[in-house]
Amino acid sequence: MWQASRCIILLTLLGFVHSTAITNETSTLATSFEYIVVGGGTTALAVANRLAVNHTVLVIERGPDLVDDEVINDPFTTFGTPSPCHFQIQLAPQMGFNGSRLIPMTYGSCLGGSSSINTMIGSRPTYAGMSAVEALGNPGWGWNEFLPHMQKSETFHPPNPTQHAEGANFIAVVHGFDGPVGVSFAQPLIAPTLQDAAKNTTNTVFEGAVALSPDMGDGFSGGHYSSYYHHIHFNDTLQMDRRSSSAWSYLYPQDQQRVGLTVLVGHRVNTILTSTEAGGNITATGVLVEPIAGGTALTFNSSREVVLSAGALYSPAILQRSGIGNATFLESLGIEPVLDLPGVGANFQDQILLTNVSFPLAPSANITNVTGGGEVLLAVVVAHPTAIDTLGSNGTSAMNTLLRNISAERALSTGGIVASDALTTQAALIANAYEIDHPLIEMFYTPGPTAINVWAQSVLPLSRGTIRINTTDPSVDPIADAQYLTTEVDMVVAVAAARRVSSIAVTPPFSELLIENALAEAGVPQVGATDDEVSEWVLSTYTPGTHPVGSNSMMPRELGGVVSPELLVYGTTNLRIADASIVPLSVFPHTTLGLYGVAEKAADMILQTAAGK
Ligand SMILES: Cc1cc2nc3c(=O)[nH]c(=O)nc-3n(C[C@H](O)[C@H](O)[C@H](O)COP(=O)(O)OP(=O)(O)OC[C@H]3O[C@@H](n4cnc5c(N)ncnc54)[C@H](O)[C@@H]3O)c2cc1C
Repeated sequence: MWQASRCIILLTLLGFVHSTAITNETSTLATSFEYIVVGGGTTALAVANRLAVNHTVLVIERGPDLVDDEVINDPFTTFGTPSPCHFQIQLAPQMGFNGSRLIPMTYGSCLGGSSSINTMIGSRPTYAGMSAVEALGNPGWGWNEFLPHMQKSETFHPPNPTQHAEGANFIAVVHGFDGPVGVSFAQPLIAPTLQDAAKNTTNTVFEGAVALSPDMGDGFSGGHYSSYYHHIHFNDTLQMDRRSSSAWSYLYPQDQQRVGLTVLVGHRVNTILTSTEAGGNITATGVLVEPIAGGTALTFNSSREVVLSAGALYSPAILQRSGIGNATFLESLGIEPVLDLPGVGANFQDQILLTNVSFPLAPSANITNVTGGGEVLLAVVVAHPTAIDTLGSNGTSAMNTLLRNISAERALSTGGIVASDALTTQAALIANAYEIDHPLIEMFYTPGPTAINVWAQSVLPLSRGTIRINTTDPSVDPIADAQYLTTEVDMVVAVAAARRVSSIAVTPPFSELLIENALAEAGVPQVGATDDEVSEWVLSTYTPGTHPVGSNSMMPRELGGVVSPELLVYGTTNLRIADASIVPLSVFPHTTLGLYGVAEKAADMILQTAAGK
């Protein structure tokens, strides 16, 4: 192994090799690498970058390299514009008002993964959230230990004087200023009138309890609102903002080139190859790969570790095809189990979004100041009200009662959890987090050419679903079942969020930007609607939060955990997972900045193992 690294160093010194190889051609590739990273998405490229400083690393990404695709690179491309990176998976039928609903979930499949198509909202987990993750049996994952990893990934660009004057602010001590991921406010800060109106109305609707925060990334514990920063950076040559995807942060820039890194695109990993050690543990030895365009399958070997980073939707599917999962389930598909790990694909969860809330602008509104002209990012102001802010003075105790008396029956029967205490333990930790002031919901405001959207989302859902393959054919999507809103507590939160959306639309100064009957036009329940009416609207209109996590959770094995706090798959010697699937509770209000922290921490732990520490 060290010989390969030495060889690369020598070649570099001689000037023969100087950059990362990105290719879809396998005929000239080596067949053995020290590390293989499965997937070339958000977390994958960050891990690979760090490992490849001194090791040979192969990244295998199913999608294409879209380095020159402006739909992806320009952060102001209208949200949802299709690109070769945009994909959708059809979810299993989800709960609706009148029977079930068929809902697709969008994800990214290209270099950079979902970070190449996401809405770039910069958001971090909280002190309360990371305390819950740590208390779930994950020493070393509390806020204080996790923050340095997020900082390592980041170059934060403080607001310039104009942005500052328009409302942007920050707390320097919680940020990183030397990492690959550019995080900044839009230049100029978009939609100043909307920023102002949204902040004032938020303050009024929550009766002053939700206060202006200089920085949402300080481990805040709810009760704040603020201007949003995004995963964007200002390109001096082009004199414009650019997306800071994982690819544009950890792969493409000149100063991130790695001679040891090979990135194979257009190839899908079918299975992870394993051998069984004398003591019964499993060792990953490589991967079986097939070209997306068709052709012969081929094998790549790893001499150190395999890192699975195919995301919350696909990582469990790869494990299941590889014989790692619930043994009985695998046998029912004719797969020979190599490791009985019932938690694979369980504990799958996603926030819900109340998205279809588009309030028409009044003719009197100054369109440019409200919409930011042509430069539109998805969200300009964010609020994170707590349980008390959202539900009233008894809010925390109401959530406590609901969460501490939760029934695990449904989640157990659908396979969302593998044991009752998996749910009751998580529910109690969520209740604790709310007691420390974890936000109950998130609300944000989006400018548009003729309307303003107000979005509300749950943050810590308790409904639990599954990712399960139903064939060994790797080209077929797994069945993804988020079980949205199937716990009473999640419905209570969603209804409360919907009520706040209605209040915002009728509260000045925000309401003054809208036409008079904006609520009715938007189809949103009137203020004072009954709980049944609001529930009907919620169940009929909610959409996926597109922050799926948990399907290979980091938690104790007896609770259905799949990886240890070192991100090692239980029962294996060298198979790690680093992606959204390991996040056991949905504590990242938006996932990306937290996932870069996961990647940096994963790389540190892997390199420590390599160094024999
Ligand atoms: C529309 C949308 C909007 C979002 N908005 C935001 C936002 O504003 N802010 C925020 O913080 N987060 C946002 N997110 C969420 C965030 O982008 C994701 O949670 C995060 O990028 C997931 O990272 P990951 O590493 O787990 O997986 P991904 O980045 O999805 O990477 C997984 C990669 O694995 C590849 N892959 C899958 N199967 C295989 C296989 N068999 N072989 C080889 N490769 C494979 C995929 O093609 C993909 O590239 C959004 C997500 C979406 C979809």
